[in-house]
Parts: sequence; structure tokens; C-alpha cells
Amino acid sequence: MRDLDYHYIIVGGGSAGCVLANRLSADPAVRVLLLEAGGNDRHPLYHLPAGFAKMTKGIGSWGWSTVPQRQLKGRVLRFTQAKVIGGGSTINAQIYTRGNAADYDEWARACGASGWSYRDVLPYFKRAENNQRFANEYHSYGGPLGVSNPISPLPICEAYFQAGQQLGIPFNPDFNGERQDGLGYYQLTQLDARRSSTAVAYLDPIRARANLTVRLRTQTTRIVVEQGRAVAVEVAAESGAVSTLRAQREVILACGAIGSPRLLLQSGIGPADHLRSIGVPVVHDLRGVGANLQDHLDLFVIAECTGDHTYDKYNLPHHAAWAALQYLLFRRGPVASSLFETGGFWYADRNARSPDIQLHLGLGSGIEAGVARMKHGGVTLNSAYLRPRSRGTVRLASADPRAAPLIDPNYWAEPSDRELAIAGLRLAREIMRQPALQRFVLGERLPGPALQSDAELVEYACAHAKTDHHPVGTCRIGPADDPDSVVTPDLRLIGLDGLRVADASVMPTLPSSNTNAPAIMIAEKAADHILGLLPAIHAPLDEAREASAML
Ligand SMILES: Cc1cc2nc3c(=O)[nH]c(=O)nc-3n(C[C@H](O)[C@H](O)[C@H](O)COP(=O)(O)OP(=O)(O)OC[C@H]3O[C@@H](n4cnc5c(N)ncnc54)[C@H](O)[C@@H]3O)c2cc1C
Repeated sequence: MRDLDYHYIIVGGGSAGCVLANRLSADPAVRVLLLEAGGNDRHPLYHLPAGFAKMTKGIGSWGWSTVPQRQLKGRVLRFTQAKVIGGGSTINAQIYTRGNAADYDEWARACGASGWSYRDVLPYFKRAENNQRFANEYHSYGGPLGVSNPISPLPICEAYFQAGQQLGIPFNPDFNGERQDGLGYYQLTQLDARRSSTAVAYLDPIRARANLTVRLRTQTTRIVVEQGRAVAVEVAAESGAVSTLRAQREVILACGAIGSPRLLLQSGIGPADHLRSIGVPVVHDLRGVGANLQDHLDLFVIAECTGDHTYDKYNLPHHAAWAALQYLLFRRGPVASSLFETGGFWYADRNARSPDIQLHLGLGSGIEAGVARMKHGGVTLNSAYLRPRSRGTVRLASADPRAAPLIDPNYWAEPSDRELAIAGLRLAREIMRQPALQRFVLGERLPGPALQSDAELVEYACAHAKTDHHPVGTCRIGPADDPDSVVTPDLRLIGLDGLRVADASVMPTLPSSNTNAPAIMIAEKAADHILGLLPAIHAPLDEAREASAML
């Protein structure tokens, strides 16, 4: 196939990109190219649910960090972002949550994302799903994405639910159903005890389509714009060879909340003053590109257990061998666990419109990079404040497309984010102290009982807080006449033709949850916009183009 022959070029084969590749190439007459900077997902750790424990430690990721965080005493935080086919869905903890209906209603009502209310997006969540437990108003059976309940929960999980109830927090069997609040098991993007990434669920079954080309280890370095239209991309193969690939209809960015603004900025599309400051020629001045970065900051309590109640012992070789055997023979046991299968949603602010704290019970200690490991077996309870008001940026350090971006989530720039995060940490502590958990928990080790005042807990958080890996917002959807919007509600880049963005970067605000299912939903809906199956939501493009032409 000649390069000129592609109708659509999708840049980024992550959670969203693989969905788009599947949906756009369903018509054999439409020729699609998917470009992914990372490699294949053949390594078994990508497929075993417990492989997640290795993922934040470097496998399949870009190796980026934040800039020093002012409100965290200048700390630089590791900021894992996927670089492998399937993107985040190949390396994440497989937790399947969608957020609260009010999140999407707010997108539509308050952020100008018309057509993205909960009623509008629910059909796309359902279209994606092959849910192994629920088939009802909220869930479907038979879509590409495997969604299952945990296979091998441990008794400590049930005690955690009881502890919640002792505090007045109900058990919830489905966080994505009628109510979000309560504690319970998460559903997971797994099928038959294997990870269901979008590469596995959406791409593998259609790899043989003659009209779909997938190029791995190929980083896109620039979008080529001619007369106000994106017509091609420049790519660099690992060998260093550079080539230009043309798109007859559209270039669609799905590089994620860091990768998409990064590529736009590298292409001269973004805030003109920033582009000039690093010597990138300005193609289109659009100030919202790379602004509005939001992320969930995670705090955690680690307790020592009274015995082998979690998976920590499987770090020892003989236990690990048994776990491997159990998995091979029965598809059960620790290897079939993502280690974060239990959690829930509750309130730091009892007047909040919906739960504002998310809890993740980690069945061990030291599961993720940067989290302490207990000498004896431990258990971790993470808490994250879900609707931060702080806003950060993604910027370029230089014009060199190989340079790491400057990622500044600007955590806790708004003092209320800090207060509510500390309230969430206290809630996690409180749950761990309930009588129902006493059989399993010897005592809190981090932050440790000595730390009690807000000031002491803030100090602890500054030293230990980590990202929950949920960056969004850097190419936000919004009305075309709002200077902070980057894409229109049908995901067209404002002021240029032939270019869309469809990934986590377009979310105007963070959903009150993990972000993989929302990114997949966005790609499902984007495909319908691109294929003309939804009414077009027109932007006043001419005005924006005129402004750009004056540069
Ligand atoms: C360690 C980790 C754990 C997580 N845990 C969970 C969880 O349990 N549940 C949950 O719901 N969410 C989780 N998330 C978040 C979730 O996975 C992401 O929000 C989601 O994957 C984002 O999807 P995306 O398509 O926007 O971007 P990504 O999935 O990140 O895809 C972007 C892709 O584009 C590629 N790319 C970037 N730039 C270029 C370029 N210039 N040229 C070519 N290719 C490029 C990247 O290599 C990547 O593969 C986690 C994320 C991480 C990193």
C-alpha cells in the first residue's frame, strides 16, 4: 500500500487509539494507519493480571517525571505513562470504573461539552463492554472489552467491607451502576484471568484486515499543516529513519494526556509565546494546548498484618513458584489478581454532590514504585481526592522531539485540594482501625500513629504522595469561541481542518474515578463523530483560522 493511500492516520495506539483503529477500519473501503511509538505486548507480564506490580517500575513506559512540585516541597514525582501497544490499558491496574453520572452532566452543562452528558455517553460505555456479571440498564454483554469480577479475593477484603460498614459506609456491588458510593470489589478489565487491554480486545481480533496498517516503534514527531489543514505526519522509526505519511481525510491524535499536547506543541500548535520561547515556529496559536492538566494525587496508609493475609509472601521464590503453578493449572491465585481489586468511593466533604474520595485496597505493601514495603506482610489503603481544582501544564523543554516534556500537575496549588486529600487520608486510617480488620491488621506503620496533626500529615504527604496515573484535560473539549478550548464537542481541533484529538486529554475535568474506561468511551464516541454517525457540532472555524493566519 502506498503511504498516500491512507484515509485516516491515528497517532498513538493506546487505550483510545486501538478502539479507533478497530471502529474506523470496520469498513473495508476505509484505509487506516495506526502509529505507535512503543513496541508489541508479547511479554507475558502484560497479560498476567499481577504483572501490574512491575508496570510502574518501568516496563512499557516513557520514563517521565514531573517537574519539582512547589506545594510538595519541590519533590519530583515519577510519572509513568505507557509506551506500548494498548497504552495505559496494557500496563494499568485493570480497575474498571467510569466515574459519577454528574461528572458527565457537568461536562455538558458547565464545560460546554454538548453531547457528552451521562445520557449521551452511557451507550458508548455499554458498547465497549463484555461484562461477565452485569447485563442491565448500565452494562452490556458482548462488546470487545472483557470486564470481570476478581477471581481470587482474599478474606481481608471481606473484613475491609465490614470495617466500612462499622463506619457507616455501605457495601456496593457495582460502582458503575445505580450508585457510586460504598466499598466493594472493583470490576476489572480482564477476561478468563487475563488482562483485556484494548490491544487484546479491539486490535488483535482484526489484525488481519487488509485495510488496516499498524506500525509499532514509530514515533510521530510532527503534524504537517498546509493551508490550515493537517495533511500528513512526520514519523521517526527506531532506526532514526524519518518519513512523511499523508492522510486523505483526517489525522487523529490519541497520544494520551501528555503525548497529545506534546505532539501538538512540537508541531507549532499551541500557545504562541511558549512556542517562540523554545524556538518552535508557530503554526497555529491555541492557548489551551497543554493547559488545564489535572491528575489524582494518591496518599496511602500502610499497615503491618498479623500474618500472611496479603500477597507479600509471594515475593519469596518458593511461594512465587506455587503461585505460578496455581495460575497455570487453575487460572486462580495471586497471579490472577491485579493486587488492587477492592476499593470504593466515599466522602471527605459530606456535602459534596457525589463521593469525592476513592479508595484502593492494595493486597500487599510496596506494590508500586515509590511505595514502602513492610518487612513482614503488609496491606495498603490508598486514598485520592477525586475532583481537584488545581490546574497544571504540559510544556516542551526544547524543540527536540526526543526531549522529555515538562509535566507540571501543580498538585495542591489550590489549598482546598490539600485539605480534602488529608481528610481522605484520615478516612483511610479510620477504616483500617475498625474492629472488623483487627484480626488481620497489627498496626499502622505509615504515616504511623505518631503523626496526628494536619501539619504532620501534610509533611508525610509531601514525602510520599504519588500520582494515580490519571492525567487529563490538556486538549479540553469546549465551545469553539472559548479561548481555552482545544477541541469542539465533536473533537475537531479548533482552527484547523483535518485534525482531531480523541483520548484522555479531551476530558474537560477529571471523572471521579480511574480514567481507562472513560478514555475508551471517548474513542468509541469519537469513531461515530468521525464516521458521520452523529450530528456534526460545528465550530466557527473561519474566525479561528483568520486569527491564526495573522501570526
Ligand atoms: C501505571 C498506570 C496504572 C493505571 N491504572 C488504571 C486503572 O487501574 N484503571 C483505570 O481506569 N485507569 C488506570 N490508569 C489510567 C488509564 O490507563 C489511562 O487514563 C488511559 O490508558 C489513557 O488512555 P489514552 O488513550 O488517553 O492514552 P494512552 O493509553 O496512554 O495511549 C497513548 C499512546 O500513544 C503513544 N504515543 C504517545 N506519543 C506518541 C507519538 N508521538 N507517536 C506515536 N505514539 C505515541 C503512547 O506510546 C501510548 O501507547 C493507569 C495508568 C497507568 C499509567
